[in-house]
Amino acid sequence: NIVMAAQMTDAHRRFLQVLMSNGLTEGSEARKLHQHCCGTYKVYYAHDKLDDFISTINNHLQPMFMQIRKGISQEDGRAHYTVVNLAETGVTKMASDYTEIELELFRKTMELIILSENGFASSTDILNSADQLKTAKFKTKKMKKKEAEQVLKVFVEDKWLSEKNGEYTLHTRCIIDLEQYILSNYQDVARKCNICHSLAIQSQVCESCGIGMHLLCVRKYFRDQTEPRCPKCNEFWSCHTP
Ligand SMILES: [Zn+2]
Ligand SMILES: [Zn+2]
Repeated sequence: NIVMAAQMTDAHRRFLQVLMSNGLTEGSEARKLHQHCCGTYKVYYAHDKLDDFISTINNHLQPMFMQIRKGISQEDGRAHYTVVNLAETGVTKMASDYTEIELELFRKTMELIILSENGFASSTDILNSADQLKTAKFKTKKMKKKEAEQVLKVFVEDKWLSEKNGEYTLHTRCIIDLEQYILSNYQDVARKCNICHSLAIQSQVCESCGIGMHLLCVRKYFRDQTEPRCPKCNEFWSCHTP
């Protein structure tokens, strides 16, 4: 007996469970999981119906203020999925998984990344800022460097941050989940990519008109151009194109 996919089935529930425990799921992994869940619970499956499958789950999640959301990784341009909590905004979304002081370190790290030129914050800068974390409960509390390092590691494991050679940036999960929060809370510094219109963290900025573009979007946009020019002001694009 094949159950039609419009209603929430055990296959949908299993899919959701795995997505939640993964934190962030890459597109091809999600497609495999879709097939696997439908096969296991004998639910209607078509390889090109993942979006419908997910919107059935999303309809079901709506009253709980949750949603499966899709976004593009700034590292590799691939689609990823994550389950977002719509009832809370900003780092309070993460409040059930971390302590107040850990969240404060995350907020500080996120700020350093957003305020940086290139979308990265060094571990040295983050650890220095860990010295003066303020929380309601503890007023001003010092977090030991070792302790802060450990907390950063957990944020990387949980896919909120990603780290390369001691430099931290926002992970795809964080960008998908906190994009709106970041755009509205850091209006003066956070920019949308001129090409794909989503939040640009690792980006290049036009020296003449100030628009930003993701590194990936820069690469794609200028691929066939002998002389790279800004898509907005048409001035020569002086950044080294990746
Ligand atoms: Zn872009
Ligand atoms: Zn320009």
